[in-house]
Amino acid sequence: MLKTKYVIIGNGAAGISAADAISKTDKGVEILILTEENVPHYYRPKLIDFISGEADFKSFVFYDQDWYKDRNIKVIYNEKVIKINPEEKIIISENDNRYIYEKLLIASGGYAFVPPFFSEIKPLTVRSKSDADKVIEQSKENTNWCIIGGGLLGLELSNSLQKTGGNVSIVEVADYPLPRQLDNDGGDFLKSKIKSLGINLYTGVKLQEIKGRKVLLSDGSEIPFDEIIFCTGIRPNIEILSDTGIEIDKAVKINDYLETNIQDIFAAGDCSIHNGKMYGLWMPALEQGRLAGFNMAGKKTLYPGSNPVYKLKVVGVDVVTVGKIDTAIQVKSANKLAGVYRKAFIENENLVGFILYGDISGENELKKNLNKDFSQSEEYFDTKESSMSNGDTYVCDICGYIYDPAKGDSDSGVAPGTAFKDLPDGWNCPVCGAPVAQFSKE
Ligand SMILES: Cc1cc2nc3c(=O)[nH]c(=O)nc-3n(C[C@H](O)[C@H](O)[C@H](O)COP(=O)(O)OP(=O)(O)OC[C@H]3O[C@@H](n4cnc5c(N)ncnc54)[C@H](O)[C@@H]3O)c2cc1C
Repeated sequence: MLKTKYVIIGNGAAGISAADAISKTDKGVEILILTEENVPHYYRPKLIDFISGEADFKSFVFYDQDWYKDRNIKVIYNEKVIKINPEEKIIISENDNRYIYEKLLIASGGYAFVPPFFSEIKPLTVRSKSDADKVIEQSKENTNWCIIGGGLLGLELSNSLQKTGGNVSIVEVADYPLPRQLDNDGGDFLKSKIKSLGINLYTGVKLQEIKGRKVLLSDGSEIPFDEIIFCTGIRPNIEILSDTGIEIDKAVKINDYLETNIQDIFAAGDCSIHNGKMYGLWMPALEQGRLAGFNMAGKKTLYPGSNPVYKLKVVGVDVVTVGKIDTAIQVKSANKLAGVYRKAFIENENLVGFILYGDISGENELKKNLNKDFSQSEEYFDTKESSMSNGDTYVCDICGYIYDPAKGDSDSGVAPGTAFKDLPDGWNCPVCGAPVAQFSKE
């Protein structure tokens, strides 16, 4: 039985950032990560480019052995946890290994949800490297793909599969794609764009039945396919928590210190719910993991919640949705000919969210202006193009993070005013971990 002060279940964004934060706070103490995957931590969103053949796996694995060694982090791969006993503080794995912890973080992420009726046919889904391997294998033989779900993942995947030479159909139950990120007007813009790319888009229809190699839709249309992929959302990996007494409300319920209701057990990332919000996004998982790590190591740090940022990267149009986009007061600017649509959402005169479609200039400034008086942001919602970059910013080619010298990177101790060329040796992208060589001038 292995006894470790800090044990983390999950080697994703939340798990790795927690381990890093613990190592910075409780220096020198061993941290143990258990993961059911058989590969090192990777930047999961890059699986899209892995499937299209544009990125090889190693190009988005950023932490080498020295990184783990320097932080005294030990990772055990192929180690699926099946049970937790909070009274005895013991974790049991599928391989029948037992681990004793003092502080435990559940960072087990989520799995791709398939509606029960269709799960019998075991369709493809994309959540992990091994899922992506299966899609790549099939793409060698199959060209007709049907994707169920026109959210971010469904759209990005359709673009990847087109790049492998595939013919792609998407089925979306809402009237337009990206229903969680766009409103009607923005949705119409995107609909035309996707169709212009040669993707067969079916909106406002339900998947009724799968008959052999044919999808039958609620409006009577049929889509023949070779392979079908479900992109119908994620659900938290929480089955290991049954009988633990840990409070669940769709996901693991956490308080402002990332604690569950059971002492010394914390949770972060896609498996958790905070103030009724489940983000399902990389940045919030990273933020939650980091703060959970600090709290586990005794540095009491409050988590105020995250501002969700949704970014569509690959269908040839830039779409960014940030914050709250369901409030009544809106300011809109649109230029249909130029394919540009921008909308601000305002509450109590403050900017609380925005949609940028086709022209995402000013994204960073607007993020900074979030929850501040809208007058500071008004100019960005003019139909005229705005050029807001100060020219000294650098963008990460892997994840799109923008290094802004005016802000620095306080989490890594980089002071505001530090030019990109003066970043300390070993500085990595705070979002995906890429080295400075992966950045280009904006
Ligand atoms: C293809 C794809 C594209 C995406 N694109 C974007 C994007 O553009 N922007 C964005 O913000 N987000 C994106 N996401 C979502 C983002 O990757 C997740 O929100 C993020 O990875 C969540 O981090 P996490 O640490 O909570 O969970 P995960 O990254 O899922 O990590 C969970 C870890 O827990 C392990 N685990 C689970 N159960 C067990 C168990 N019982 N025992 C041991 N280990 C276990 C898993 O193996 C894994 O290592 C994308 C996701 C995918 C799949």
